Amino acid sequence: MDALESELERMEREPTEASNGNLEEQVRKLRDHNLRIKNLNTQRRRILDQLKEKMLQYTTLQERLHQIGELLIIADLHAAVKKINQRLDRMVEDATCSICLLPWTENGIHRLVSLRCGHLFGSRCIHMAIRMYHRCPICRRRARHFHVRRIYSRSFSSH
Ligand SMILES: [Zn+2]
Ligand SMILES: [Zn+2]
Repeated sequence: MDALESELERMEREPTEASNGNLEEQVRKLRDHNLRIKNLNTQRRRILDQLKEKMLQYTTLQERLHQIGELLIIADLHAAVKKINQRLDRMVEDATCSICLLPWTENGIHRLVSLRCGHLFGSRCIHMAIRMYHRCPICRRRARHFHVRRIYSRSFSSH
C-alpha cells in the first residue's frame, strides 16, 4: 500500500501532458496490482476456510476415536461379566441335581451319583426316576438301579 501511495503521489506531481501515455500505463499497473491483492486475499480466505474445516474434522475425529475407545472398554467389560456369569451358571449347574434342583451332598440320601451315561444326580432322586421311567432324565438312555455309581467329588474335600 505504501508503494501504491507513492505511485499516486508521483503521478500527481508529474505534468499531465508529458505523461499522458505513461498515465494509462500507470493506471493499468495499479489495476493489476489491485487485482493481485484481491486474488491473494481470496486465496488466503480459501486456505483459512480449509484449515478451519480440517481443525473441526480433527476435533470430531479425536472425539470419535475417544468414544470408540470407551465403547471398546465397555464391550470388554460386558464380555468379562458375561463370561463370569456363564462360569457361575455352570458352577451352580455342576453342583445341582437336575431332578430336584438342589445341590447334592457328600453323604446321605442325596449324595452325588452318576449313571452309565455320565449324568450326575442326587442318589435319592435318580433312584426314584429309575423306578418310574427306567431312563436317565437328561439324555433318556435306559438306566437301571445297578448302573448308579457313587462319585467322590473333589469339590467336597474342602468341607
Ligand atoms: Zn435331587
Ligand atoms: Zn444321561
